[in-house]
Order: sequence, then C-alpha cells, then structure tokens
Amino acid sequence: MELAPQLRRIGNDIIAAHLIVADEGITLVDAGLPGHYRDLERELHELGRPISDIKGVVLTHGDTDHIGFAERLRSELGIPVYVGAEDADRAKGAKPPATPKDPRRIGPVIQFFAYAITKGGLRTHPLREVVPVHDGDVLPLPGSPRVLAMPGHSPGSIAIHVPAVRAVFVGDELTTRHVLTGVDGPQPAPFTDDQAGSSASIERLAGLDVDWVIPGHGAPWRGDAPSLIAAYRTAEGLPAAG
Ligand SMILES: [Zn+2]
Repeated sequence: MELAPQLRRIGNDIIAAHLIVADEGITLVDAGLPGHYRDLERELHELGRPISDIKGVVLTHGDTDHIGFAERLRSELGIPVYVGAEDADRAKGAKPPATPKDPRRIGPVIQFFAYAITKGGLRTHPLREVVPVHDGDVLPLPGSPRVLAMPGHSPGSIAIHVPAVRAVFVGDELTTRHVLTGVDGPQPAPFTDDQAGSSASIERLAGLDVDWVIPGHGAPWRGDAPSLIAAYRTAEGLPAAG
C-alpha cells in the first residue's frame, strides 16, 4: 500500500514492514513474518519492479516479528541484511531476555497471535549472516538510510532516518497501537527490555526533520517528531491499560 510515492507498506496495523522505492532500487525496512513474503511479491508486482531491485534489508531490531523473510532474501538472492550490532545475535536466533509482564486484553492478544500464525510466525528463520551497523552509519542503499542507535526495546534497536522520503522508522522503540491492549496512539511498546532506556532514546528523534514517524506496529504517524514525542510523553504518564 502506498503511503507516499516512494514509501510503501506491507502488512497492517498489527505487523508492518516498509519499502523505500527509488529509481536505483528498493530498500526494505524490516521483514515482518515469513508469510509477508507473498505480500512483498504482490507489492513489487503492483510497482512493476523485479525482486532483484531490492538492494538491502535494514532491521530496526532482531525480534522474530521483524526478521520474517529476511533470511530467505539473503540466502536465495544474496541481499544483505543490516542490523544494529548489539542485536546481531538476536537476529541470528538468540532468545531475548524475559520482559516484565505487559498490560494486555484478551481480544487484542488473540488477534495478534492469530495474525502472526497466519503469517507463518511459528516458522521464522533466524539470519545466518548479518551486516552489523552502528550509530551514525549511512548505509549504501537506495534512500541513503542513516542509523540512529535507540537502545531500550532491545540493546541493538535502531531508528532508520530516510531524508529522501522524510521518514524515520522506529521499529518497536515506540508503538502507535499496543498489540496486547489494542490501545491506539503513540506510547511505549510491549516486550521492551529496558523501558527507561527506551524512553530516553525517544528524545533522539526530536531533531529530525520528518513528516512520518513509522513504527513496526500501529498506524504510521503523519506529523513531525516533536508532536509525536509530546503524544508519547502524555501516554507514558497515564496508568497502563490492563
Ligand atoms: Zn515487533
């Protein structure tokens, strides 16, 4: 689906991945779940672009609902997969630490896990090789994505700033729809290793000149970073829905 002419989305508000579409090729941000491969093929068909136009996949972090079809693209087509250095092991299958119990409501929880299962969430393939990236790196990919370290959700979580599409991709450093409660709006994301660290990392977005702040779960935020941060701070101050 088109967010802007060079900015497309596959998946939905439960789990999404994104494409930056340039003349010289396509950069993927995250890789959803294995079953999103078919959504990717459909999107490319709609664009009239071959899969070989994909020059790289940048992972916002190493969690299983973001690495989906990345190993398939890497092993079958030799497409490089970039991930924050401190999340390389997680992308390769290391188990994340247990996180404190998040608020949840039964309906959204069932909806999330049911969707994940239909998209092959039980057969995710860890990466066998990744290219580790660091704060400040500008990647040699369409759109020239720039890496911002955003430790908190996981140690190697990154935001990916793409000035060419006036967007920053924030993975699960925040969410605009809590997958376990169904509550909409910018807010802390569940399954976060270090919420205090995450809350501090959010401030790094403040200086970015963007029109979009795009999380891995929930609707893309259409607006500037300061207004998103303000909405996040308000949600942070409210008691968690439970
Ligand atoms: Zn996620």
